[in-house]
Amino acid sequence: MLSLYNTLSKSKEEFKPLNPGKVGMYTCGPTVYSYLHIGNIRAYLLSDTIRRYLEYIGYEVRLIKNITDVGHLTDDDVAQGDSGEDKMIRAAEREKKTPEEIARFYEEYFKQTEKELNIITAHFFPRATAHVPQMIKIIEGLFEKGYAYEKNGNVFFDVTKFEDYGKLSGNTLENLKVGARIEEHPDKKNPWDFALWIKAPKEHAMKWESPWSIGYPGWHIECSAMSTEYLGNTIDIHTGGEDNIFPHQEAEIAQTECYTGQKFVNFWVHTRHLLIDGKKMSKSKGNLFTLEDIKEKGFSAMDLRLLFLSSHYRSQTNFSWDSLEQAHKNIQRINDFILNLEAIASREIESTENFNISLYQEKFDAAMDDDLNTPLALSVIYEIITEGNKNIADGALSSEDAKKISARWKKMNSVFGFILSGQAEIPQEIKDLMHKREQARKNKDFGASDEIRALIEKHGFVVEDTANGPIIKPAS
Ligand SMILES: [Zn+2]
Repeated sequence: MLSLYNTLSKSKEEFKPLNPGKVGMYTCGPTVYSYLHIGNIRAYLLSDTIRRYLEYIGYEVRLIKNITDVGHLTDDDVAQGDSGEDKMIRAAEREKKTPEEIARFYEEYFKQTEKELNIITAHFFPRATAHVPQMIKIIEGLFEKGYAYEKNGNVFFDVTKFEDYGKLSGNTLENLKVGARIEEHPDKKNPWDFALWIKAPKEHAMKWESPWSIGYPGWHIECSAMSTEYLGNTIDIHTGGEDNIFPHQEAEIAQTECYTGQKFVNFWVHTRHLLIDGKKMSKSKGNLFTLEDIKEKGFSAMDLRLLFLSSHYRSQTNFSWDSLEQAHKNIQRINDFILNLEAIASREIESTENFNISLYQEKFDAAMDDDLNTPLALSVIYEIITEGNKNIADGALSSEDAKKISARWKKMNSVFGFILSGQAEIPQEIKDLMHKREQARKNKDFGASDEIRALIEKHGFVVEDTANGPIIKPAS
């Protein structure tokens, strides 16, 4: 039985979907104005792991991930998401492009990055700019129910009207009053109200007509509009990074629940901050690494995937080049083992030993059921490898067992999502050379066998002789 830590209740809860067998999931997607950094990647990887595991245990998942291409302002971390400049417009000015060009470029980059990380594509990526009418409809509904007010063409949500404000982040109005001061907007009734609609200055590049002004939507209203549009009023799981919780998702809850009169989200699941060499990520520290930075140092997207899965999503993970190096070695180790298995499976080796793969599978399931404990699940894989390699070296792993382990691995890897090079990646030419070498060895022509081995190595592959015959793999 899967249990997930719910940020709303601050406890692990048994996961139950609204509709049997089906799960509706929403993930706060990227603001498409710059390159994703690895902190963003980690949050999308969490959403991917939840989805993969739900599918592994038999659920049909529908995942929506929005594209924020309007309304996300630069000062979102110091205010209520309604001050500063629009991030899209600022990027457009910086790069001398239109906001539309900026949005499509970084949206494409985001999708490409997800693909390289083998993050399964969401069922839909709704764009905020294509859902302004839905946002206006919700704002109108909030007016009717007395939660919204307008001044000078700007529309705000009155947080004092929503009793539950603060239930996700702990930032209740009581707590906020004694906390940090925020910049007050002259049109607001009280400082913690947040913008639903903002009147656009004349020169503003992105604006729409509305009952209140020619303007643009606030950032938070986007997610309410797109999640209710595609997943209904109540959704099973909403994910994001820890930094999305306040003010963004607190505002999502306020406006959606006041509009629909129903609970917005059953499970809120968040990744904790990622540290880089023990420090917070920031532009000024120059440590906002992208996937390109990772690749430039000779690592792969899969190395990064394994690194992130090696720590629990709710622990404050520390990224360092050393830890990535270790992850690289572990991916290599898994890859080598899978190649060994394939080689053993392709022969007809019998053994009196039995490999109890079901036992490991149970441990894997138990680890994942416990709030997606991927580090523990990975350690089960390493146990299989240690035990399996020992058996292979002793000539005690049968082809039948190798096939069984292979099949279970494929199932478990549907949760990890690693793309491994595998036997299929070994060119026919190399396989032919291996065959020739085997013949030479059978004929005790060791001179020829060594020559062929050297030739194989020249092509970037290594040959490992085991008790049950040679195994070939790419040189690391
Ligand atoms: Zn959102």
